[in-house]
Amino acid sequence: MILDMFSLSGKVAVVTGSDTGLGQGISKAFVEAGAKVLGVSRCASTATQEMLGEENFQFVIADLSTLDPVETIINTAVEKFGRLDILVNNAGIIKREDSIDFSVENWDSVMNINCRTLFFLSQAAARQFIKQESGGKIISIASMLSYQGGIRVPSYTASKSAVKGITMTMANEWAKYGINVNAIAPGYMATNNTQALRADAERSEAILERIPAGRWGTPDDLMGTAVFLASSASDYVNGFTLAVDGGWLAR
Ligand code: NAD
Repeated sequence: MILDMFSLSGKVAVVTGSDTGLGQGISKAFVEAGAKVLGVSRCASTATQEMLGEENFQFVIADLSTLDPVETIINTAVEKFGRLDILVNNAGIIKREDSIDFSVENWDSVMNINCRTLFFLSQAAARQFIKQESGGKIISIASMLSYQGGIRVPSYTASKSAVKGITMTMANEWAKYGINVNAIAPGYMATNNTQALRADAERSEAILERIPAGRWGTPDDLMGTAVFLASSASDYVNGFTLAVDGGWLAR
């Protein structure tokens, strides 16, 4: 039956940035679809665990600005839940500064988490999928700035454009192992990440005016797309960055 294709029953997922925002929403979606989730964040994902239950959601605290935790994350998922089927690269940061003054620190910190760790965590997950001979799903959270330039966010734009690019590279190389690599490009979503923008009445109004759907997105708006890309319903979807943006890119 068609709805069975969307079930994640028996699947095990790693979701980075699971303590809040979009990663918390994706973790909730996966558990509701039947998966077990290992969350990874720089702080404890206690609220997410309380929401989803210890039997469904476990977490590790890890700093993804370096590659040090990569192997441990994959091994912990396998130790706790017996296997790995899905990786969601959601953890990410943004730094705002005029490009003319942009610092090396603001460049490196963003590229390290949003791009470097994302690639090597994907590589580690793919190696686990290949070892299991199970196939698997890798979903990265990209951005409108995978498609557009933005202003005052050069490292964020570079990182998210890279996410779209390497999503295609990884998909090309790993499709033969039954691994689907795709990305989701959220529009303007109401999370901590956009707190300052939403607090700025002028910017907020300008943004809202340009969104055909006429509202900010919420973590719940990503749930269906995330489950689709994590499930066998998307087995023939490879290397695509799918916008969930209330129509922003269509303008
Ligand atoms: P958020 O700030 O609420 O969450 C960011 C997450 O990343 C948190 O869980 C945090 O713990 C984690 N994180 C940050 N630095 C980390 C580090 N060094 N080590 C481990 N974890 C770290 O923001 P969000 O809106 O939920 O963002 C999630 C993803 O969605 C990000 O990749 C962001 O770029 C992307 N995104 C957000 C929007 C939006 O409008 N909110 C739009 C497009 C893309």
